[in-house]
Amino acid sequence: MIVVGSLNVDLVVGLERMPSPGETVMGSTLERHPGGKGLNQAVACARLGATVLMVGAVGSDDAGDWLRSIAESEGIDVANVSTVDGPSGTALIEVDSSGQNRIVVVPGANDQVTPVQVREAIAQAAAEHDRLIVLAQGEIPLAAISAAMEAGRDHGATTILNPAPARDYPDALVGLVDVLVPNEHEAASLSGINSDDDAGALDSARSLLARGCRVVVMTRGAQGSLWVSSDATGAVSAFPVDAIDTVAAGDAFCGGLVSALAQGFELTDALQRASAAGSLATTRVGAVPSLPTLRQVEELLG
Ligand code: ADP
Repeated sequence: MIVVGSLNVDLVVGLERMPSPGETVMGSTLERHPGGKGLNQAVACARLGATVLMVGAVGSDDAGDWLRSIAESEGIDVANVSTVDGPSGTALIEVDSSGQNRIVVVPGANDQVTPVQVREAIAQAAAEHDRLIVLAQGEIPLAAISAAMEAGRDHGATTILNPAPARDYPDALVGLVDVLVPNEHEAASLSGINSDDDAGALDSARSLLARGCRVVVMTRGAQGSLWVSSDATGAVSAFPVDAIDTVAAGDAFCGGLVSALAQGFELTDALQRASAAGSLATTRVGAVPSLPTLRQVEELLG
């Protein structure tokens, strides 16, 4: 499968309290973590046994080499991750002693993923693989996301878009998507329909379906997920786990869904596996460290 998306360095500073403008305060901890929805989901897919080719861009800095090496260490093919002048995508995250955070994201190299690069990678992969799935998220330019969905369709691939963050995805783009996977907040923002309760979530999913994708899968945190197609609808429960940190639950869910579809599972079975992966990710702290393996998912599924 092909994951077209972002790679970020997350720099996390722990501090007693946030500085005011112009003020300097001392931080107590500094950690560097791999991140970006593209890399997180590529790692999620790889840990679940999929053959993953990533398309994206890192900067010409140390962080770029580091991100590439992280992906490689997970068995991800990074031949189509380009190195561009300037910084790698970076998230500056400050967390104070009360747990409040402030985050600045600099897209950096992620803004330089090009439609040509995406089309070439997909055409080449399509020539080498029979059943291809193309997965993209919203952290790269819209033109690159559109190219991914368009080239996927042209080559008979299944196209999947995790519209995170919510932004102005044109109908022409949504119309190229087989499975759209927003969380309830993104769904609400994209549809303009409050998706908190069951009725609202269903209305919201149906309204997104009307924009031209074939299936909408909405993740709903501890409430699990629901899906809607033109002639059917269903819900999948989350697994009862001791959730301690929901970071990257959605990324694990997307990875679980896509890798199960790649293994040939039908949508409803694939959603069970996605749900198990999402739930497992909440039982560990962090993004990449929390992404489960195939064995862990199968154990939870029994
Ligand atoms: P995001 O991380 O994008 O906000 P969600 O919070 O909707 O995504 O979570 C994605 C999936 O992870 C859910 O559909 C569910 O399967 C699982 N999940 C999330 N939170 C919990 C939780 N508290 N308990 C069990 N499973 C959860």
